[in-house]
Amino acid sequence: MREIILTRMTWEDVKKCVTEKSIVLVPVGSIEEHGPHLPLLTDSIIVEEVVKETAKRVIKEGIPTLVAPTIAFGYSSRDVMKFPGTIALRIDTFIDLVFDYLTSLIHHGLRRILVVNSHGQNYGALRVVARKIYEKTSVPIAIVPLCTLLAREVIMKYRKSDLGGILHAGEVETSVMLYLEKELVKLEKVSREVTVPPSPILGGDAMLRGKIFLTTWSYWRSEKGILGDPTVAREEFGKVVFDKIVEELVSIVKELYFKVFPKIEES
Ligand SMILES: [Zn+2]
Repeated sequence: MREIILTRMTWEDVKKCVTEKSIVLVPVGSIEEHGPHLPLLTDSIIVEEVVKETAKRVIKEGIPTLVAPTIAFGYSSRDVMKFPGTIALRIDTFIDLVFDYLTSLIHHGLRRILVVNSHGQNYGALRVVARKIYEKTSVPIAIVPLCTLLAREVIMKYRKSDLGGILHAGEVETSVMLYLEKELVKLEKVSREVTVPPSPILGGDAMLRGKIFLTTWSYWRSEKGILGDPTVAREEFGKVVFDKIVEELVSIVKELYFKVFPKIEES
């Protein structure tokens, strides 16, 4: 099978990918506490596996695809810094890092870029970077805001937790990690930490958007670094969610490759 990981290729291999107008998938996660039961690298592990599996499938369908290195360093708000291990970039550092990274790809001629993000607090900054890059290079960057949202339907259908159970280190992330990296999940450490937000305008669950944006975490007081209910997590649910995310991402890549990017390039 052909190599799909950018950093394992030579520059001549990459040159060929440029000629083929490959689509580049860029996973973005975090190194952030995920309660006493999940590793710091949770977001990054999930998004990298999602992207690799997606790339394998679309390549089989004839779409030249590259998996670029995972950006594991993300923006995390100060509220999580009380839990040891989190590595938080300042928002400007994060923006600069992503800017330099993506403009390097563009410099080499890779202009079909899809950023797949798995860490909610990165999203606003990623949109800012995309705009900055467009201003400078005229290359539009596609972003999937939060990869778990791609499985929204199946999550709502099969979830066991009530609203508030899926936000951070809760039912979804713990289930997906049980499916992907079971040995990294400390099931004996799971506990339920569900905080109802002070008003419905805030949402309070990853599947329920609030009406307003409020700087994340500031109204929650999490004791163990969990916002949700990992006690109902299970591997089978994790598999269903993972498969659905990949299926949705495959169809997004196809739409971009066959319809969106060619249209942008001809204009
Ligand atoms: Zn997470």
